[in-house]
Amino acid sequence: MGYQIPRGTQDILPGTVEKWQYVEKKAREICSRYNYKEIRTPIFEHTELFLRSVGDTTDIVQKEMYTFTDRGERSLTLRPEGTASTVRSYVENKLFGLPQQPTKLYYIGPMFRYERPQAGRYRQFVQFGIEAMGSDDPSIDAEVMALAMDVYKELGLKRLRLVLNTLGDKESRKAHRDALVAHFEPRIDEFCHDCQNRLQTNPLRILDCKKDRDHDLMKTAPSIHDYLNDESRNYFETVKSTLTAMGIDYVIDPTLVRGLDYYNHTAFEIMSDAEGFGAITTLSGGGRYNGLAEEIGGPATPGIGFAMSLERLLLALDAEGVKLPIEDSLDCYLVVMGESAKEKAPSILYQLRKAGLKADKDYMDKKMKAQFKAADRTNAKIVAVLGDDELANGVISVKEMESGNQTEVKLEEVTQYILNQI
Ligand code: ATP
Ligand code: MG
Repeated sequence: MGYQIPRGTQDILPGTVEKWQYVEKKAREICSRYNYKEIRTPIFEHTELFLRSVGDTTDIVQKEMYTFTDRGERSLTLRPEGTASTVRSYVENKLFGLPQQPTKLYYIGPMFRYERPQAGRYRQFVQFGIEAMGSDDPSIDAEVMALAMDVYKELGLKRLRLVLNTLGDKESRKAHRDALVAHFEPRIDEFCHDCQNRLQTNPLRILDCKKDRDHDLMKTAPSIHDYLNDESRNYFETVKSTLTAMGIDYVIDPTLVRGLDYYNHTAFEIMSDAEGFGAITTLSGGGRYNGLAEEIGGPATPGIGFAMSLERLLLALDAEGVKLPIEDSLDCYLVVMGESAKEKAPSILYQLRKAGLKADKDYMDKKMKAQFKAADRTNAKIVAVLGDDELANGVISVKEMESGNQTEVKLEEVTQYILNQI
């Protein structure tokens, strides 16, 4: 028995990888339209960064990180998400000092979390995300949500739901937090062990508990909406009216939370209602994190972003039966017969490729018939046949597969001829 791939990871093979490339290209295209630039940060960071930014009371930090000590005795962690690294880089490279503000960045790359693998949940998965830093204009909140929705919509998804909430500012959150503690404290022993810990560390997270979601105290829990101060309320109203003016549908869910302490104001998730998408219905999540840059040693900077995994996006495409318009064909397949033709073939093929054509030939010493079959398998638009007779006459036979038209072309003109044909 040979080696097996680690649990929760996948090989993406030719035939499937084209879907990934298509989706990544679409994400990049949309980012460029919205004027977001790509940032690439390391796959691992100092563990401390995630403790600080993701927060040491979160599931990610408590249960899911791939942390190791390197040979220099440093504690490093494979990144579980992209925001921490992006904000770290923004602070470290003083991007806030550049004339062009806000700083609008996107990333696409693998993330790592030690989770129980299931459909839509992997230990290595690819996140595409954006971060807009330096602006607290509510219209950028709407922009971030619009961009995420555009990616899904333009790929062909229809069963989408944008779920929106506000977490308020620091003052509103503090008032809400006190109300939550007062609400749950008298009966906290009826809740799971995690929730008992959350009561003091992060009571907002109780609302997000998957085990206790049906407890009657959940339904009567104080809503952040009753604790918003005027500023927070106005902010939320502007985000909503901007989305409405843009024609982007949303639903409000007052129980939607983001667990991290520095999150404030806008929080959102995009869900899939497609049948067959599975138990996990969240496609992506995002929100505003005005305190984060400061938390990791930078200047006070407002910020907002989202992250989506490409795995869940591809699952949703499957669930909705969307076929991506992926073209996978060669321009030309060169069928070769005879010894001198075989000697000549590599240089002809090389010429075609240098001219920008997608071209290939046989390397398995196949018979003529098998070579035609191979040509067929590559969906070649043109099949060029070079035999010793053709070679002796300085020509090559070129067949246009769709029409079936076949002509002989002078060897030195074949590249130009094929370029004109396709
Ligand atoms: P969940 O509640 O599903 O665990 P989360 O709150 O941990 O999600 P975030 O940290 O907000 O998720 O990550 C943003 C997005 O990244 C998710 O909406 C999802 O698309 C994706 N994601 C998170 N964890 C995984 C995973 N293990 N495998 C695949 N995609 C994931
Ligand atoms: Mg999770």
